[in-house]
Amino acid sequence: MIDLHMHTSRCRHAVGSVADYVQAARAAGISTICFTDHLPLPGGYPDCYAMGADELPAYIADVHEAAALSRASGGPEVLCGVEADWVPESPPLIAAATASLGLDVVLGSVHFVEGWAFDDPEEVGGYQDLDIDGLWARYFEQVCKAVASGLFDVLAHPDLVKKFGYFPEADPTDLYEETAKTLAAHGVAVEVNTAGLRKPVGEIYPALPFLNACRRQGVPATMGSDAHAPGEVGAGLTSARELLLAAGYDSVLVFRSRVSQEVAL
Ligand SMILES: [Zn+2]
Ligand SMILES: [Zn+2]
Repeated sequence: MIDLHMHTSRCRHAVGSVADYVQAARAAGISTICFTDHLPLPGGYPDCYAMGADELPAYIADVHEAAALSRASGGPEVLCGVEADWVPESPPLIAAATASLGLDVVLGSVHFVEGWAFDDPEEVGGYQDLDIDGLWARYFEQVCKAVASGLFDVLAHPDLVKKFGYFPEADPTDLYEETAKTLAAHGVAVEVNTAGLRKPVGEIYPALPFLNACRRQGVPATMGSDAHAPGEVGAGLTSARELLLAAGYDSVLVFRSRVSQEVAL
């Protein structure tokens, strides 16, 4: 099994060290893991979601050291990536950071709509009296902009906007189709992310109709637990595999030095 998405305590909203995660992955029999701590956000955004810019070199060094140790002791394979939050101000920061860090993969994600951290449990009051159809439209508009930016290898948790179970009244099929076409046009993979199973919505990101749309457009997929604690490494990946098979996928991608390779499911 491959798990291409996890966070350490450096992210300020997760627990566990790199070594703790490697140990958990080994115990769970996972063959390849990739660390994807958050890149710092631009100025003006809260600093509680990501490491500070000065911590990036130590993060990379920690993961590379753990990779070497793990290689010498029988695995798992340890890869080094980041999750880069898309906000309108972030492209120069993301481009500069990812060009210089020697990463294996760059996940792109949308956690903010017009400055609101819509997936933060502390901010959930913002859903009160909100036009959910409008929120979904604005969320997917940002997702498509992120995908089209050319900054990312993978779109992480593609329908994160459903996290607290607020679904639009209008059929979201067009939003899924548009996003799938944008992914295909820009050569970006879609992530099947199991964190949603552990959130109020209780389902994987993306929903099966969304993943079906990606499959029809020939968009490749990755999978990840988005673990925020060592005990979550690999969580739900059996369900992710089932969802991928249901959508017609027979492989997922793994990225090394930002070059993808297919691995059979
Ligand atoms: Zn995320
Ligand atoms: Zn994440």
